[in-house]
Amino acid sequence: MANSRNDAKPATRLVTAGRSGEFADRVVNPPVWRASTHLYENCAALRAGPKSNADGKFFYGRRGAPTQWALSEALTELEPGAAGTVLYPSGVAAIVGALMAVLRTGDVLLVTDNAYDPTRSTAMGVLKQFGVEHRFFDPLDLDGFRAAFCDKTRAVMLEVPGSLTMEICDIPALAAIAREQGAVSLIDNTWATSLGFPALQHGCDIAITSLTKHVGGHSDLMMGAASAGERWYRRLRITAQQLGHVVSPDDAALALRGLRTMKLRLDQESASALMIAEWLAARDEVAHVLCPMLPGAPGHELWQRDFTGGCGLLSFVIAGRDDAARCRLVDTLDLFGIGYSWGGYESLALPFDVEPVRSCMDWPKAGWGLEDRHAVRLSIGLEDPADLIADLERGFAAMNEG
Ligand SMILES: *Cc1c(COP(=O)(O)O)cnc(C)c1O
Repeated sequence: MANSRNDAKPATRLVTAGRSGEFADRVVNPPVWRASTHLYENCAALRAGPKSNADGKFFYGRRGAPTQWALSEALTELEPGAAGTVLYPSGVAAIVGALMAVLRTGDVLLVTDNAYDPTRSTAMGVLKQFGVEHRFFDPLDLDGFRAAFCDKTRAVMLEVPGSLTMEICDIPALAAIAREQGAVSLIDNTWATSLGFPALQHGCDIAITSLTKHVGGHSDLMMGAASAGERWYRRLRITAQQLGHVVSPDDAALALRGLRTMKLRLDQESASALMIAEWLAARDEVAHVLCPMLPGAPGHELWQRDFTGGCGLLSFVIAGRDDAARCRLVDTLDLFGIGYSWGGYESLALPFDVEPVRSCMDWPKAGWGLEDRHAVRLSIGLEDPADLIADLERGFAAMNEG
């Protein structure tokens, strides 16, 4: 039984994962255990409690209970190469918690220049405050990356695709260089998840996901996770305990519920996103479509080589118009909400400018014209793509009227 499950395809594993707990033969889903305090039988049992710091041993609410363990176990089963998964109260908490687990004062951290903006802020803020230096690197330049290491480089923070601008970098090559240089590699893998990009298998040491996005899937919870092999999992876990990270059992149950349908949602969103990307690519108002799933788009070949899936998140750059024109487009959209986040069942649009969140990447080389600066990110949800295209059509009409 165990073997047939371990060899099963991702869709099957999404159904079976995390269901081995003590309740598994009686209920489909683990009960929501709302508990801070565990009662011990006697003084001897109380004293033994904290000594066994093991997963699955109830000690005190901060170390989780069966609901949270079931979610961790499920995420571990879905990440090939992982020995365990630590849960965090948000994706950003997972990034900061994982970086704090691997870095010490005096270390240098290399951060991909197209990282999620709060990751950049962490490097420039709290990590710097504790004496960790950082350098940004262009993830599309392997020679430059190799040259960025010094004898104090302890860790490399990767992300794929690039936040907002959606570049696909060669993660197996970057992770191999990091390993060769004796550095630990962490990756923010929120876009593809372990289903579309098994990051540990591709050479990374720690795989981080914002569960707020695809795992939650319904825009109603915030959570993050970091999975790793034995060595780094132990560091992640002890650091998270020392930082006091805990997630609520109610949110863990919601995340488990979201996980069961994640592949269906990702497949549908990806198919719709591809249709919309093709439609955008044919519009005169669009200078670039930034969607690695689209044949001919930047990063498509590497995406095809390394990924088995995508999602509904893509961006496009408007050809030579000003911000007011872009706002007319976005403000006219009806089915697309205007907001941060992504990966929910509903579509969202987000206007963005790239200069404030990059330090060293070379834009024209990455495929952008100098005159085309105003971009929009779309998170495609589960609406019928024909309705979303009609909505965008109205948006472009409003943009052109100004
Ligand atoms: C949203 C996001 C995060 C942060 O997740 P939160 O749960 O919102 O803290 C991290 N990385 C990426 C790529 C994201 O899009």
